[in-house]
Formats: sequence, structure tokens, C-alpha cells
Amino acid sequence: MAHVCIHWFRKGLRLHDNPALMAALKDCKELYPVFILDPYLHHTQVGINRQRFLIGALKDLDCSLRKLNSRLFVLRGKPEDVFPKLFNMWNVTKLTYEYDTEPYSLRRDEKVASLAKEHGVDVIYKISHTLYNIERIIEENNGKPPLTYKRLQAIVQTLGPPKKPIPAPTLENMRDVKTPHSEKYEDKYRIPTSEDLQLDSRFLGEELFPGGEQEALRRLDEHMKRTGWVCSFEKPQTSPNSLSPSTTVLSPYITFGCLSARTFWWRLTEVYRGRKHSDPPVSLHGQLLWREFFYTCSVGIPNFNKMNQNPVCTQVDWDTNQQNLAAWREARTGFPFIDAIMTQLRQEGWIHHLARHAVACFLTRGDLWISWEEGQKVFEDLLLDGDWALNAGNWQWLSASAFFHQFFRVYSPIAFGKKTDKNGDYIKKYLPLLKKFPPQYIYEPWKAPRSVQQAAGCIVGKDYPHPIVQHEQISKKNIQRMKEAYAKRSSDNNESPIKKQGVKRKTPSVIDMLQKKIRK
Ligand code: FAD
Repeated sequence: MAHVCIHWFRKGLRLHDNPALMAALKDCKELYPVFILDPYLHHTQVGINRQRFLIGALKDLDCSLRKLNSRLFVLRGKPEDVFPKLFNMWNVTKLTYEYDTEPYSLRRDEKVASLAKEHGVDVIYKISHTLYNIERIIEENNGKPPLTYKRLQAIVQTLGPPKKPIPAPTLENMRDVKTPHSEKYEDKYRIPTSEDLQLDSRFLGEELFPGGEQEALRRLDEHMKRTGWVCSFEKPQTSPNSLSPSTTVLSPYITFGCLSARTFWWRLTEVYRGRKHSDPPVSLHGQLLWREFFYTCSVGIPNFNKMNQNPVCTQVDWDTNQQNLAAWREARTGFPFIDAIMTQLRQEGWIHHLARHAVACFLTRGDLWISWEEGQKVFEDLLLDGDWALNAGNWQWLSASAFFHQFFRVYSPIAFGKKTDKNGDYIKKYLPLLKKFPPQYIYEPWKAPRSVQQAAGCIVGKDYPHPIVQHEQISKKNIQRMKEAYAKRSSDNNESPIKKQGVKRKTPSVIDMLQKKIRK
């Protein structure tokens, strides 16, 4: 039987390496490529840079589909409300989509799949957002997520390299497939504009990273040509405060699925072939494995984006301080390095990994003692690459709540940036009001004599805030508080959970035990 098929784009906004789309084309007479603006995911609170990226990605997808004599149909509403109508209206017999591991997506997909069943619609989903089938990694580790990178590496080694990406469909694949066209569809199912999404252009920065698969592949090609750079890439050697990015900035494209992680992986393999190259965890392959690591944790650990009821997360008595949180979010902490990073985040939607380290440590265990969950929300809103699993995992890492436990190693909001930018050029770029401060004061303008502040045209306390905390004192106090949280954790667990998690064992894991405790 030839099918009438909907391919549902959610993430995976691409044609290359899209096995679910290929499955849609099999025995298909009519294809409806659909994207649904879901009020839960695409609400107006989500940062405007992110929304603009999405519009770009949808436009690009529509354009590529039109080259295949098809198009994108954009709808609005809750998917469980939208699909039954579409099933009836178009006489749909098959629904395909890319598998998504986020808890919200799993619940959504379960509802939609059961509605599809009620309407006699076959459902096919394929894994292509991650390098591996995450469930397989967990299965291979005795049903538990590996909780160290080393352990994950060992598991993926037993699984072999990730699957090779598949090519994008061609006109030949579309020979017997039609997408119905009609004048009235043009407006009804069009790509939303910035006005539709109520994006206030006054707050939009320059579009440095336009959304879309074509742009993703172009950027990938550009990076892969730099064979020396790719082969010698070591993440810790890249700079958080260079004036242009020192890493690939492929993250927004991977998050939205404009770029397949497997395509990236195999392009890197080609570049590495026959050449001396860096290795995980610091290499670019290593970065993709970090992504896989946090995805695996997010699938295997309950309540992964929360502190409560999250069995790997140390329970910390974080303070509630709306004023300090707002100062951090709005780049008014009085520490130029921190404020410059938060300004870049707000304007451009991307900041370097180590810059994320600096501001995340500052918000949590370093200085402000505010919960990582608050930071997670702000990043989710402002990052172009905002990703449920990676955001939660990295925030837990940086706040030393899970995975990383050397809480006594605190980033200095003054010294850290100086290592790679003595002159403070990065600060001058993002906080131009400080640009006339001499290098010796640019990280600590409050120490500049009044005459220097006057000459710089910026008086601390009037034009730029005083530091909201005294870093030297507060960080020492916070280390002490962290020590107490760790001591409590050890006495609660009666053993350090770090030691045994993720190790292949027959006896119950610490996660099992903690889950049991939570259930009680
Ligand atoms: P590259 O160094 O070029 O790496 C290539 C790819 O590897 C990235 O695009 C990304 O997909 C993956 N990757 C690299 N580092 C990590 C990492 N530490 N964890 C997981 N995957 C990684 N990344 C997100 O994509 N979304 C997030 O929401 C996110 N939130 C973060 C929150 C905090 C507090 C921190 C410290 C890090 C966060 N990261 C997040 C991870 C990392 O900072 C970004 O993936 C990276 O900076 C993206 O830039 P890039 O593409 O140039 O990375």
C-alpha cells in the first residue's frame, strides 16, 4: 500500500542524515513535512535570539524541501490537538519522526503515538539526534548510566564507531512522492515571521549565527578545511575571551539538529585519518562524546534538571537572592569579566565553554551561592544552543553538585580572564564604557584611583557598579559551606556515591539505593 505520510520535524531540522525522513519516503505517495510551533517549547518567553535562529532554520528547511518539489507545513498548537485533525484532513496512514529523549518530548510522543494508533496511522521513529542509541549505552552498562566519562568511553568502545550518516533525499527518492500544493496553503502553513512571534527587533543583536542546515554544513566545511587546527584541537587550550570564537560554534546547529552529530563525527574521522591528532576528552571527537555522556546521564538519572529527587545531585542549601540573581543575569555584578560574558550571551546567544564555567561558578559555589537551577533557566532562555540535557549536566558539573567534586577549585572572576586576555580587549568589546581603563585596572575598576576613573570617563558606583560581593572572602566561606554539604551527603549515604556509580556490578548501584531512599 502506498502511504500518505507526515514527517514531523521537531529537532532534526535537516535533510542530511535523517533516517526517519527516509523512512517516510518508503512506499509513500503523499508526503506532508510538518513542523508544529508548540506553546510549551516555543513560547514567547524563550529568548528572541533563539526564536530568530528557529525561523532561519525553518526557512532553510522549507527552501530545501521545495527543491525536492515539497514544502514545510508549519502549524501551531499542542501536538496532541493538532495531529488528530491532520490525520483526518489528509487521510494520513504513516507518521515518522526522530526519537527525542527529553522527558517532555517522551510524554508528548507517547500521546501522539497513541492518537496515531487510534486513527490507524503507523508510527516510525529513528534515532539520529545522538551518536548512539542512548538506551543501548545504558543497557551495555548493566542498566545504569555510566557516571564518568572514562566509563562512557569504555562502553562506546565496545559498541564500535557511531553509525555512518545517510545522505539527504534526492529528486530520485521523491520520484513517486507528491506533496499537495494549493494557493491557500501558502499563507495557512507559512513559516512564522519575527512579527508573528512578537520578537522585538530593538533587542535583537547582530545575527552572527544564522539558523539552518545550509549554514551548518557551510560552517562544518569551513572548519574541516583547517586540518591542522582540527588535529591539534585541545579544548582546555582554547580561549574563553577571544574576540572571535576559539571553538566551532556548531552547538546551536547540533541542538536544533541542523547538523547531525554523526556527520560531524565522521567528517572529523576523515580529517584525522593518517594524521597525528588529539584524543578524547580534549579533542573534537572528545567534545561530541561529552555530549553523549550528558545525554546518557539525562536519560538514566531521574529528575536530571533538578536538585530535589535527583539521586546524583548533592543537596546544597543555596540562598535565594533575587537581587544578586538579577545582577548576574543583567550583567551588573561589578566584575567586568563576568559582566562582559553575560553581555555577550545576551547579545549573541553564544559564549565559550570556559566562559560558561566562569559565570556558572560565580553564580553558584564560587560567589553568589545561588542554585544552579536558576542559572540553568537563564541559559535555557538566552543560549542559542540551549539543550535540556547538556544544560542540566554542565550546570551540575560546574556547581560541583555532580560529576565534578573539586569544589575547592574556584574560578577567580579577576584572574581567570587575565590568563588569556591581559589587556582586557574582550571586556572592552562587550562593556565599551570601560574601554578607557588601563589594563592594570580593567578587571578591577574599583581599585583604580579616582583620577584614573575620571580620565576613563567611568566612575565606579555611578557609571558602573561596585562589585556585588568581595570575592576573596565570600569564596572561602562558600568552600566551607560546600564542605558541609559534602559531609552531609557522605553521612546520608554512608559512603561516597562517586566511588561506585557507573561501575559494572551485579550488586545494587548507589543510584538504585538512593532511588529506594527517595521512594521511602
Ligand atoms: P566545540 O568545542 O566546538 O565542541 C563541538 C560540540 O561538542 C559542541 O557543539 C557540542 O555539541 C559538544 N560539546 C562541547 N562541549 C560540550 C560539553 N561540555 N557538554 C556537552 N556537549 C559538549 N552545550 C549545549 O550545546 N547546550 C547547552 O545548553 C549547554 N549548556 C551549558 C551550560 C554550562 C553551565 C556549561 C559549562 C556548558 C554548557 N554547554 C552546553 C556545553 C558547552 O559549553 C557547549 O556545548 C560549547 O561551548 C559549544 O560551543 P562549540 O560548538 O564551539 O563547542
